[in-house]
Amino acid sequence: MKPAPFDYMRPRDTSEAIAALAQGGGEAKLIAGGQSLGPMLNLRLARPKLLIDISGLEALRTMDEESEAWRLGAAVTHARIEDRRHDFRGCPLLPTVARDIAFRSVRNRGTVGGSMAHADPAADWPLALAALGATLLLQGPGGDRQIPADDFMAAAFTTALRDDEMIAAVRVPKFSPSARFGYFKFCRKVGEFPEASGAAVFDPETRIARVFVGALSGAPASLPGLARDVAERGSPAVTAEAVLAAVTAAAPTLSIIEQRMHAETVRRALRQILPT
Ligand SMILES: Cc1cc2nc3c(=O)[nH]c(=O)nc-3n(C[C@H](O)[C@H](O)[C@H](O)COP(=O)(O)OP(=O)(O)OC[C@H]3O[C@@H](n4cnc5c(N)ncnc54)[C@H](O)[C@@H]3O)c2cc1C
Repeated sequence: MKPAPFDYMRPRDTSEAIAALAQGGGEAKLIAGGQSLGPMLNLRLARPKLLIDISGLEALRTMDEESEAWRLGAAVTHARIEDRRHDFRGCPLLPTVARDIAFRSVRNRGTVGGSMAHADPAADWPLALAALGATLLLQGPGGDRQIPADDFMAAAFTTALRDDEMIAAVRVPKFSPSARFGYFKFCRKVGEFPEASGAAVFDPETRIARVFVGALSGAPASLPGLARDVAERGSPAVTAEAVLAAVTAAAPTLSIIEQRMHAETVRRALRQILPT
């Protein structure tokens, strides 16, 4: 199948992209890496009248280290994050997650902003950035706004983004050198979207502790009680029963088999943050 006809433009800067998006009145769509939108166009699940290609906009392609955070432009590809794996001081989880997304050919084009905007429940960035406490920086004709990554995804393929807004960047806070990070996903085949995924972050210096379960029917779910317990008690809190209870409470509509699969995935992520 071929896409329905559309016009295509490459804006000179983000202002031109936002203006075109606003003028499109819901009939215009941004395209970054095209790794999700491409198939949707081909299947005619998306039929925009205008595609606004932001992949070449320099302002969206920068990765900046700030004193307390990493600022990733929305059009930074997974591969660029993977390749700078030695650089991410204070946030080593970023390249760990990037390098396990799909295949290198997908990572060469797919972007962090595109992944967040597409909001596939099984995708890696919505889960990882929620666990890291990241913030999305949005730009629109009405001005800029910020939204925490764990509030951004409302449901499967649905976000807080307005029709005329774009993600400009993601700000990921840095953690102390003693912080520990856990990420585990269960994929049936290497490179496929996961069936279940879990992420855990614990910083003993700041006492920040977060545990999330992903690949649900909607947004990743936070497991704050379990996170607190793990931060306070360590290994004894990570029993199969406790993790299963937390996952079941957060995602009660999963089948029993899914609950066990997700719980085991979270448990493996948690094991990575426990001292050996
Ligand atoms: C075979 C295959 C396997 C994959 N496996 C995985 C996997 O295991 N894990 C995973 O996480 N992902 C996976 N993906 C998805 C991949 O990570 C894509 O990069 C991602 O889903 C979309 O990024 P993109 O830049 O290609 O966005 P596009 O396809 O260009 O756009 C996707 C959506 O986001 C919107 N958009 C893009 N950029 C912005 C922006 N800056 N602001 C607002 N809206 C924007 C577009 O309008 C569109 O609606 C896979 C993809 C393929 C093809």
